Amino acid sequence: MKQKTLAYWQHKAVTLSIEGRAFIDGEYRSASTSASFDCRSPTDGGLLTKVVDCRAPEVELAVQAARRAFDAGSWSGLNPRERKAILLRWATLMRQHQEELALLETLDVGKPIADTTTVDVPGAIYCIEWFAEAIDKVSGEVVPADQHVIGLVTREPVGVVAAIVPWNFPLLMASWKFAPALAAGNSVVLKPSEKSPLTALRIAQLAHEAGIPAGVFNVLPGVGETGRLLALHRDVDCVTFTGSTKVGKMIMQYAGQSNLKRVWLELGGKSPNIVLADCPDLERAARSAAGAIFYNMGEMCSAGSRLLVHRAIKDELIDKLVVAARGYRPGNPLDPATSMGAIVDGAQLARVLDYIEAGRTEAKLLHGGAQMLRESGGYYIEPTVFEVATPDARIAREEIFGPVLSVMTFDTVDEAVRLANDSDYGLAAAVWTANLSTAHDVARRLRAGTVWVNCYEEGGDMNFPFGGYKQSGNGRDKSLHALEKYTELKSTLIRLR
Ligand code: NAD
Repeated sequence: MKQKTLAYWQHKAVTLSIEGRAFIDGEYRSASTSASFDCRSPTDGGLLTKVVDCRAPEVELAVQAARRAFDAGSWSGLNPRERKAILLRWATLMRQHQEELALLETLDVGKPIADTTTVDVPGAIYCIEWFAEAIDKVSGEVVPADQHVIGLVTREPVGVVAAIVPWNFPLLMASWKFAPALAAGNSVVLKPSEKSPLTALRIAQLAHEAGIPAGVFNVLPGVGETGRLLALHRDVDCVTFTGSTKVGKMIMQYAGQSNLKRVWLELGGKSPNIVLADCPDLERAARSAAGAIFYNMGEMCSAGSRLLVHRAIKDELIDKLVVAARGYRPGNPLDPATSMGAIVDGAQLARVLDYIEAGRTEAKLLHGGAQMLRESGGYYIEPTVFEVATPDARIAREEIFGPVLSVMTFDTVDEAVRLANDSDYGLAAAVWTANLSTAHDVARRLRAGTVWVNCYEEGGDMNFPFGGYKQSGNGRDKSLHALEKYTELKSTLIRLR
């Protein structure tokens, strides 16, 4: 295949048509009011389009359409084999539009095109295919019961699922929600982040073309208020959320204030990456530690934002880490050679720069710290590394969601585990060691939903459940376990005589 160049993507960007209307009950609709917001590209600050800011009337229309479709059985009542075929058709259409979707994602959130073409879009397609392929293979149970009784345990779709998602992996995070929810037979109302609505709006049309019936998949762009209205709605049976811990707590309250809808939360993190003195390959550990925090501009819930290093190897590891950090120079996200793109918007840029300022007073700056490429009109930050003396430093405790790493030192394995677990979060963790027993022992003691040993961020396979302990959330995305979130268990007891 011919190598795509910056000029190729720039030309494609100019001719791209961008949809900013909501998708409700099988068609695009403008808002009932004239409310809309500007969708700007963080790559250069330019206006991409105006997007409808959905409020109560649109939420009402979408939830009613979803309910109608669910009750009519146009999707929920299909043989799972038929849902599978339609979902696979949708995935195929997305593959045919892969470049367009990757470009939309890059323009919308500033991710390198090298990532959206290889990770975000193919990852979302894979997710849809995985759940489509799975759904006609999961069965219920016939359970032990009285000899005159047949006991069935079955799973049924929960009904109308509202999916509220963030901006860091707009399409991928959304697919982790809607793919299992739709496969299980639910109707979905998807609320993308106001910072990244474009790919969700585009794939709605493709869903329709693939044969997903009207009302089954709706997309409501809007600000936080749109999400609040959905989470408070009495005819929404389940809200599945990925985003900050702060908003996650509100979502639980909204459920309590309304109909006690099911609530599933994938929230923030401050994940520890522990390098023990017997690390088998310091070079690889350093490169991996850099990737763990600088990939996707550090806008990762599972970013390895706390690097815990044994004192004996600290200096050597830091030297190698700084070399690896230099490999992440911010550049034009449309250039296929760029490995570090733009921060999602001006507000997030300011937030990250604030943390860097705090870091200058409470820690030692080892690398980076500057805003870059101001002349582009976009939002870029250098990969930044601090050495932190106390775990109470703000930069070592709070989720920054940017390319800022805190390095801390320990002397014993017990101290490393204590430091690692000393966090409100528990999303992911890693440990580097050459000793198998130490690896198992530390992995067991780490209070996190995912533990990597001698790697970081391996696990693109759908087979691994993903989610958090503690204030990183509840429930799991990915894997067959995700289906548990979007189904109710039913016991049916049939007396034979
Ligand atoms: P956010 O919580 O600000 O927003 C997430 C979504 O919630 C957006 O669609 C937003 O419009 C909506 N929202 C905002 N206020 C709301 C309200 N009051 N009621 C209902 N909805 C509301 O998060 P963000 O800034 O978009 O994303 C970053 C956060 O997401 C980070 O904390 C990150 O760790 C987390 N995240 C977690 C995972 C995971 O799998 N655990 C994955 C990606 C991101």
